[in-house]
Amino acid sequence: MKTSQPHSFVSLSGEECSANRAALFSSFVWNDYKAQLQNRVRGFELERYFALTESEKIGIADTIRLNVSATPYYVSLTNPDDLEDPIRKMIVPREAESVFSPEESPDPLHEERLSPVKGLTHMYPDRVLLFTNHECSVYCRHCMRGRKVSDSKERMLTGDLDAAFEYIESRKEIRDVVLSGGDPLNLSDSKIDWILERLERIDHVRICRLGTRNPVTLPFRITSELCSIIESHNTDRLSIFCNTQFNHANECTKEAKEAVLKLLKAGVSVGNQCVLLKGINDSGEAMLELHKKLLELRIRAYYMYDPELIPGSRGFRTPLAKGIEIISYLRGKIGGMGIPQFVNDLPGGGGKITLTPDWYLGYYKPERMHVFRSALRGTYHLSPEPPDSDREEFYPSLSAETWERIAPNALSAQGKKFL
Ligand code: SF4
Repeated sequence: MKTSQPHSFVSLSGEECSANRAALFSSFVWNDYKAQLQNRVRGFELERYFALTESEKIGIADTIRLNVSATPYYVSLTNPDDLEDPIRKMIVPREAESVFSPEESPDPLHEERLSPVKGLTHMYPDRVLLFTNHECSVYCRHCMRGRKVSDSKERMLTGDLDAAFEYIESRKEIRDVVLSGGDPLNLSDSKIDWILERLERIDHVRICRLGTRNPVTLPFRITSELCSIIESHNTDRLSIFCNTQFNHANECTKEAKEAVLKLLKAGVSVGNQCVLLKGINDSGEAMLELHKKLLELRIRAYYMYDPELIPGSRGFRTPLAKGIEIISYLRGKIGGMGIPQFVNDLPGGGGKITLTPDWYLGYYKPERMHVFRSALRGTYHLSPEPPDSDREEFYPSLSAETWERIAPNALSAQGKKFL
């Protein structure tokens, strides 16, 4: 959000920033999550802990997006001297974040149009997303819900949540409720208990998904007390899942692992929805490293999002081809449970679609043969359609010219088994 008062930035060296960090980090009980929240680094305070570039100073002063704030824990994962530090780029706004480009919208997915009552988005028939809380531990610069997150006017009062639960109760087709925000785990334990209890009481709701970045940005929030509450509602009636958002291997710390293990012990399966971000994780190597680390944390890959067309997002967006190239790179280098689906949430409220590399080349009808390219070796491979198939018109057809070019290699690789 744009600030109204001009600010004269001080320019500190990396060494001075390190000294300030040491003073901050030792001023409270490190693993007390409430103390972490109370000591968050906000707005212009970033100048004390990062040697800021001119672009970052403009970004902090003129951001058109959500508030600037990060836990000391998350700041501690960055190197104050490294201007390219990937986590720094998720904490500190840059100049691109102050520009509202023509293709951008505060609500590119039309969540508000699809909202029958305050805070509830009903896009898919059997699922709803409930915006439970406007607050988070860290305000990520790439947040797709920045129009609401960090804005106290968007606070969900108990009456708002009651209205949302009444809507869910009235719609028997809703089986699955995503608790999101903001971050639902930034609510108090008692509020989380109340929300889960309300959900558990609705007969037709069988699945609850917690969307939280706390395992990444404030793992100390995943306390034994919180996990006991979650476990008490994770019953035959209601199955609770957690989807979090690690975007870089540097976020995969031992503290994060402890938090995830606590959730797993409460019977909560944990998946990861990363966002593909320019200059942060937009390479096959960075994504491979991230997903290897996630498996060590016992987190399965779920989605890799193409960033949304939100205000000030040009600094984060990558060509669509980049995501497809990354999925192609990952296949064969890590087990399938470490490979996310590359997802585009369609602008205008069209819902999610997945994009995959072109491993299926098509169907050559004269030989009743499908042609594939191996993700592992780049070689061509054939597989016949069953003789009694009635679905031959379903497939994209392969031209005779392409067949002639590819088939000899494919046949020799497979020992001319089919023809
Ligand atoms: S934690 Fe999630 S909701 Fe909160 S700012 Fe980050 S991306 Fe947005």
